[in-house]
Amino acid sequence: MDGLVDLHLHTLASDGRLTPTQLVDLIASKGVTVAAISDHDTTDGIAEAVRAASVHPNLEIIPAIELSTDIPGDEIHMLGYFLQYEDEEFQAILRRFREGRLERGKAMVEKLASLGKPVDWERVQEIAGDGSVGRPHIALAMVEAGYFKEPKEAFYEYLGRNGLAYAEREKMTPEEGVEMLAKVGGSAVLAHPANLEDLDTKVAHLKEAGLVGMEVHYAMYSEETIQRLLEVANRHGLIPCGGSDYHGLGNTGEQEPGLLGPPMDSVERLAGISRDLAKNR
Ligand code: AMP
Ligand code: ZN
Ligand code: FE
Ligand code: FE
Repeated sequence: MDGLVDLHLHTLASDGRLTPTQLVDLIASKGVTVAAISDHDTTDGIAEAVRAASVHPNLEIIPAIELSTDIPGDEIHMLGYFLQYEDEEFQAILRRFREGRLERGKAMVEKLASLGKPVDWERVQEIAGDGSVGRPHIALAMVEAGYFKEPKEAFYEYLGRNGLAYAEREKMTPEEGVEMLAKVGGSAVLAHPANLEDLDTKVAHLKEAGLVGMEVHYAMYSEETIQRLLEVANRHGLIPCGGSDYHGLGNTGEQEPGLLGPPMDSVERLAGISRDLAKNR
């Protein structure tokens, strides 16, 4: 199969700004032939994306997710591919994490008020709609309130991990994430790892827990970073993955979907591992 591969995409089901249908039409028009819908802590966009893709016979949608997990002092995003996502236990855990996102969002909005940057919590929820609430929704409300020109600016001082308005929420460990994915046939892939300290040690440890791949061909990374990550992936026998991490948030410099992704061979390897995981359930 030829064509572009993009294994990292967000929709309105979390903090992307396009509906799954709009996103599918957009990537089809760009020549993407394999795409993973990987929203934060939700699979709610997948069914619509699959339906929308039925009018694009050359486009395959991989059911995926991006889980937020925690290690001391840092956050690790864990992607999962080829999920049998309708599993009830899996969905119950995701619901709990989304409830945690609501509480966390409210806490951050309260902090913003005390920092002299009030936004309406109701407005943040409106912007998020039915989607899994995330910091970009708060950032969009801050742009609307006139504090910033674009959402990413809200992260520098306020919403980033060390920002003044940051609040924690319940998260699982990366190992728990890998395990949760494996139970529904999901191949676990470490997301955007470039700024993790001591990457080799972390990757070796996660591989023992069942990690099968890591993002290498990530649209925001330089050619040099991609080469370095490819070496790490090869050293540990991990499948090189990647994609655009497209959100459509309107940040300057945001990459278009389909711009960069892994080779088709990586998709086939992920699919094979997920088939084995599903068989051994
Ligand atoms: P959350 O799911 O609430 O933890 O928010 C994570 C999302 O916020 C990421 O997927 C990005 O879309 C966005 N984000 C996180 N950190 C930054 C940053 N420093 N600058 C811009 N966007 C960010
Ligand atoms: Zn996001
Ligand atoms: Fe991420
Ligand atoms: Fe992402």
